[in-house]
Amino acid sequence: MSALSVDALRSRFQAALEAARTPADLKTLRDEFLSRKHGLVTALVKSIASATPDEKRTLGAASNALKQEIEAALDTREAEAAASAPPKDALDVTLPGRRPFLGRRHPLTQVRERVEDIFLAMGYQVIEGPELEDDWHNFEALNMPAEHPARDMQDTLYLASPVPVPDGGRAATLLRTHTSGMQIRYMETHEPPVRVIAPGRVYRRDQFDATHTPMFTQIEGLVVDEGISLGDLRGTLNGFAEQFFGGRVATRFRPSFFPYTEPSAELDVECQGCAGKGCNLCKHTGWIEILGCGMVHPAVFEAVGYDSDKYTGFAFGVGIERLALRLYGVDDIRMFYENDLRFLEQVAL
Ligand SMILES: [Zn+2]
Repeated sequence: MSALSVDALRSRFQAALEAARTPADLKTLRDEFLSRKHGLVTALVKSIASATPDEKRTLGAASNALKQEIEAALDTREAEAAASAPPKDALDVTLPGRRPFLGRRHPLTQVRERVEDIFLAMGYQVIEGPELEDDWHNFEALNMPAEHPARDMQDTLYLASPVPVPDGGRAATLLRTHTSGMQIRYMETHEPPVRVIAPGRVYRRDQFDATHTPMFTQIEGLVVDEGISLGDLRGTLNGFAEQFFGGRVATRFRPSFFPYTEPSAELDVECQGCAGKGCNLCKHTGWIEILGCGMVHPAVFEAVGYDSDKYTGFAFGVGIERLALRLYGVDDIRMFYENDLRFLEQVAL
């Protein structure tokens, strides 16, 4: 080893330092030259032991100077790198922003609110009642006594044992099969005139398939006053259909049967999918059934103590899921309950 080696080592270090870019490069460099075990400068110093006394003097001083020079150069560069490096949790302002996901109300809620808004504008009041119901309000007062064959139309979910209802009177024995019980609950506690809608969940012993669910949503409507006629019913529901579907929409009333209305009807609207020409949505009839309705049966008035000679009224029941299916052109009711965001983000009023 000679003094030349010191110069050669210095040149090699300077070239390497020039090429170093990252803190990792500097660390590699420090290791290569200054490591106690295998560093190049360390090897140079160790070689002095075998040199002549004259060589020892000059070489010792030169190698020491080189060692300090390299250390100083690395210290400087490392300090610079540390100063310019961003802290680990730094905010990178050049990254594109993250778009926040905006939640919205469920399609079924939107449809329910749309129906409510239309009737609120017509002066109706929104009321709510219990989903656990007793036999009187769900059946008997609605002109369906114990042995009435119409009870077979409803596959009822009965409770294993009766539970008290908040109103304190009768014990609940079933999950309500329709919101029509709210007609009774309201008339029992209010005198005419009546103008209410009652939205809420109802339950049936149905299978869960494309067109059935064991739980769904209805909106019940009830109007009672002196001189209420079938014409009022038709005018009200035609107005509702026009507002709900937007613009003029053809409707028809088809005779039907419910124990608690007489006469009873189903309201059909012209199919929005085919403008009445016939398509899969309307099963090629050109019409879509949206609700059941009728004039309140005198037996219902008697059950709640209203004078059926003095008062008349009409009632209707809208299925929210059914309306939503028509409105969104969806063919499987289960999509409303599976909470797949890809679906929920697509359907909106
Ligand atoms: Zn159609």
